[in-house]
Amino acid sequence: MNSELATAVILDIEKIRKDFPLLQTKVYGKPLVYLDNAATTQKPFMVLQALDDYYARYNSNVHRGVHYLSQQATEAYEVARRKVAAYINALHEHEIIFTKGTTNSINLVASSFGRKFLKPGDEVLISAMEHHSNIVPWQMICEEKGAILKVIPINDQGELRMERFDELLTDKVKIVAVTYVSNSLGTVNPVQEIIQKAHAAGIPVLLDCAQAIQHIPVNIQELDADFLAFSGHKIYGPTGIGVLYGKERWLDEMPPYEGGGDMIKNVTFAKTTYNELPFKFEAGTPDIAGSIVLGVAIDYIQKTGLAAIRQTEEDVLNYAYNRLAAIPSLRFIGNARQRSGAISFLVGNIHPFDMGELLDKQSIAVRTGHHCTQPVMDFFKIPGTVRASFAFYNTRPEVDALVKGIEKARQMLD
Ligand code: PMP
Repeated sequence: MNSELATAVILDIEKIRKDFPLLQTKVYGKPLVYLDNAATTQKPFMVLQALDDYYARYNSNVHRGVHYLSQQATEAYEVARRKVAAYINALHEHEIIFTKGTTNSINLVASSFGRKFLKPGDEVLISAMEHHSNIVPWQMICEEKGAILKVIPINDQGELRMERFDELLTDKVKIVAVTYVSNSLGTVNPVQEIIQKAHAAGIPVLLDCAQAIQHIPVNIQELDADFLAFSGHKIYGPTGIGVLYGKERWLDEMPPYEGGGDMIKNVTFAKTTYNELPFKFEAGTPDIAGSIVLGVAIDYIQKTGLAAIRQTEEDVLNYAYNRLAAIPSLRFIGNARQRSGAISFLVGNIHPFDMGELLDKQSIAVRTGHHCTQPVMDFFKIPGTVRASFAFYNTRPEVDALVKGIEKARQMLD
């Protein structure tokens, strides 16, 4: 635990919960227990009001207008970029590209970096616990370029086998792309070590931060990752907006991903010259409202304090882990030493879908299935898991409700 965490306070959760209108909802007449935060988080009033405010007061297209509203929208859009840059401590604001989400950010890098730098026989190194969005875009570009996708395996605890990483990191590897935190196992990967080793071999690293950015302070200059991707909707912001951070030197060298308005400097039928960063990678009208409101979600996190958020989440996560461990015939899928956010499990012979449905009837929202990580399910030889995933607004009584719900399902099904 770092010193910032040691001094962080546990948040007043009842007060926090009042910030989130959806948490007051009832499902089947009972208070909602929302434990599907790894899929998407709920939104505080501040964020909802900012969305309303944008469309009600200054909705206008950015970058192209001289009129008052367009200038206001442009200014707010660029302020949001500044907030994201400050949140991850990027060196330059123009290293922040607004995208549609993590998936879109990774596709951008795979396609653009791949087109420029991958040759037949080159390798791309990912891990066995990646979300499909950090597998398939690399498979597609590898197929196109005749490159080879290599995979760092995992062990039975759901941790990366780092001794295999060392062996796989040959001079054929042109990029390493790994997740910081696994969405299906909750494993926190040793990304510092991965980045240091890859850089020692002159290889850039992309970090999928979809499950890290809302839980763990990410200081990109300290981490020194070359690319970082995350989604707004998992960090209390809206859907449809996401971020790609890329180091200036890579983004400068990479070709545009999409062509269209805003990403150009000059267009003739003979030749087009491209705009500077970040606009080179933001073709067309962006999600102006989404970007601005993502900035407000970051304000909310900073107002609350990420250290306090983390401490509060660790408390509820440990409590959940201990209470679930006491349920007979429950087995955890993923037992990593470093964990965050999500707990995956199976109970006896109960199919995860059946467990999910019975919990739903008790107004408990969990996710069941492969969580877009089918290779993880294949590794453990299971059809899927039940996943409870936590945010700082989850409480111990909600964990108690989950445990009670599982016990009830066990009595009925196991
Ligand atoms: N990576 C990880 C680790 C994720 O958890 C997710 C979302 N479940 C994604 C990528 C994809 O995010 P999005 O669907 O928001 O693009």
